Amino acid sequence: MRDRKVLLLNASEEILKIIDWKRAVVLQLRGKAVAPYRNVNKYTIKGKDGDYELPHVLMLTRYVHVPYKENIPSRINIFARDKWTCQYCGKVHKNKTSLTIDHVMPKSRGGDSSWTNLTTACARCNTLKANKTLKECRMNLHKKPYKPTPLQVHFSRATSVILDSWTPWLKKVC
Ligand SMILES: [Zn+2]
Repeated sequence: MRDRKVLLLNASEEILKIIDWKRAVVLQLRGKAVAPYRNVNKYTIKGKDGDYELPHVLMLTRYVHVPYKENIPSRINIFARDKWTCQYCGKVHKNKTSLTIDHVMPKSRGGDSSWTNLTTACARCNTLKANKTLKECRMNLHKKPYKPTPLQVHFSRATSVILDSWTPWLKKVC
């Protein structure tokens, strides 16, 4: 039962967000969301009154207007963007407390706290890098820091599992 996620689409079939299965069942039972036109796989949820089939993707029956919201480069958003991976040694840290935020261009050297200057580093690499520039410390970044779209942030924070059934819609986003 755990971690069953459903991709929720707007009535226009644009991606809205990832929701958990309980919320998805409620939306479907209330008639607020239906399976998309395209055939998708289903979860089988065992209930007292028999099995319940829940599509991996649901589409709202009525279009909702969602305002475009920018995400701030908070610690958690930076970690999520970088997939909980130290961008220097490439090690994945599931334990958030062992990760730190590194200013690629150090603050003391005029580096800002923007999406494009913040990266995920383990404590060890952050100590090694210290107050140096990449050139000075001779360290390399796995991925250059970038500003993700609001949807990319949502995806990286909401789930670590992307279902195959979602692929047709994800192609337009990620
Ligand atoms: Zn590291």
